[in-house]
Amino acid sequence: MCLDFVNTLDDRHTKPKELLENYLDLARFAEDTGLLDSSQVDRLFARSEADPERAREVLKWARELREAIHEVFWAIINKRPMPPMALARINGSVQNAAEHMRLVPVKGGFQWKFDDVNQFESMLWPIARAAADLLTSDQLPYVRACFSKTCEWFFLDTSKNHHRRWCDMTRCGNRAKVQRFYERQKKRSS
Ligand SMILES: [Zn+2]
Repeated sequence: MCLDFVNTLDDRHTKPKELLENYLDLARFAEDTGLLDSSQVDRLFARSEADPERAREVLKWARELREAIHEVFWAIINKRPMPPMALARINGSVQNAAEHMRLVPVKGGFQWKFDDVNQFESMLWPIARAAADLLTSDQLPYVRACFSKTCEWFFLDTSKNHHRRWCDMTRCGNRAKVQRFYERQKKRSS
């Protein structure tokens, strides 16, 4: 989910397209990824209409957190030095998220839940937490950037052999196949 969040700046290396244009986009991302339910999104949206300044501020934090997550994972994928500012920002967001984490008994055990999900920035807590969980998990070596140079979406390669190259076969894999086909045809005809 935190990698999907990074991908909300689409085509970031070529023609960046901002998919989080306003606070509602951010709330909808949270709904789509199961962080909030539709009634929470409705409530947050009503509150954001009443306090647009605060909503804009939270949108700004969200984009800053997103770019920090991008920078850190980008450095990991490309085996570059860790960017300290980006890591500090994630740490700040994780600490903030931790203040809202509560142990809640569930059947057979406990679960982490976030309190006060009606706060403007409540969707940022699980995103920060998910980034921290991924950074500390044994799945970290399987975080990839899509092989397509115009895409470079992040994804977690959960395939059996860990040889996945495309964010999505239909989105980029096919595009690349078509491209290779045209290049071969061109070579053949020249
Ligand atoms: Zn892709």
